[in-house]
Amino acid sequence: MEKRNITVLKCPVALIDTDEALKNTDNALKNNQNFHIITINPEMIMNAQKNAEFFEILRNSDLNIPDGIGVEIALKLKGANQKRTRGIDFSRKLLKLASENGYKTALVGAKEEIIQKAKENILNKYPNLNVVYSRNGYFKDDEEIIEELKSVEPQILLLGLGSPKQEEFIVKAKKELSGCAMIGIGGSFDVFSGVIKESPIIFRKLGLEWLYRTILQPERFKRIFPLLPIFLIKCIMDTSKD
Ligand code: UDP
Repeated sequence: MEKRNITVLKCPVALIDTDEALKNTDNALKNNQNFHIITINPEMIMNAQKNAEFFEILRNSDLNIPDGIGVEIALKLKGANQKRTRGIDFSRKLLKLASENGYKTALVGAKEEIIQKAKENILNKYPNLNVVYSRNGYFKDDEEIIEELKSVEPQILLLGLGSPKQEEFIVKAKKELSGCAMIGIGGSFDVFSGVIKESPIIFRKLGLEWLYRTILQPERFKRIFPLLPIFLIKCIMDTSKD
């Protein structure tokens, strides 16, 4: 099915659920196309309001899947009923897809011990997954890593560098790789490693995982907390039509 985009504060968001998004990704892979997926959240949309380069990245990616309760509410304000897909859930689905289809997979991001442990846990869960490359996310030279990736020709790249670093990397990688679905997964490797606990299901159901994460990582508080109300006020005041 063709995706339909709506804009939230001028940033495109696809009206698409998890399964359709996965199908679109699989189609791109079957057609040997590069495919940049963003699980777009209020923090990214707010960043795009002041960072023109990041705004362009959000406009030029292949699929912006709605993530975060804030985006779900923003879509409702525009009359669209679309449930969000959590980034970490989508990356799990991608890993499953990769393991079922033999797609070559690269895992890049997080600290060294974290990515090692995350890889181990991922391989325990998906023993058939073909991990062709993995490394931590602390490097200086993007080009060097892109060259290494080029030589192993991944078809799925999970990149956990945090935003906007991961999206900027993907824009560069997209020019060099082919037939690769690429997605920034923020701190998901920390969760896959078991070091950071995933928010309990009740928080997830209520769309309050951001609150749970802020309690656990208070350093996030200043960054995240005021953002959601400001984002929502901006969305309410935004009268632009699609
Ligand atoms: N990270 C990295 N390289 C860097 C900076 C950060 O690999 O240069 C990793 C960091 O270890 C963490 C993730 O990127 O695993 C960022 O997590 P955060 O929770 O900030 O991202 P979010 O989920 O909020 O996008």
